[in-house]
Amino acid sequence: MNRRQALLGALAIAVLGTAVLIALRGQRAVRAESDDFPDGTFWLCAADGCGADFVRSVAELGEFYRQHPGEPLACPKCGKTQTQRALRCPLCKRHYAPSGPGERVVMCPRCGQELPRRTAPSAAP
Ligand SMILES: [Zn+2]
Ligand SMILES: [Zn+2]
Repeated sequence: MNRRQALLGALAIAVLGTAVLIALRGQRAVRAESDDFPDGTFWLCAADGCGADFVRSVAELGEFYRQHPGEPLACPKCGKTQTQRALRCPLCKRHYAPSGPGERVVMCPRCGQELPRRTAPSAAP
């Protein structure tokens, strides 16, 4: 490879890198609203005998509500609409109903393990 080819190669990599960066930045701007829900939103089916866990991304949820304003989300397993927003247990990764105001779920209802306290990100290295 001569000097000129090496230079062109380096230039191509630089251009490509810049293009990728711009594309990533554009994507990030579009997805900004989902930053709070990097894993999507967690749902639970409360229908008798179902209890399915499922996840909907913020984009999917927005699309659903746009097409079905005011309608509850249907369970992908049983098709019923007794679905509710849920929290995800970090230990067993299953979903559980959030506690009411003033109370705190200390034990995962699905696996029975004590839930780690939600703390602010520590300054630990
Ligand atoms: Zn269900
Ligand atoms: Zn659990």
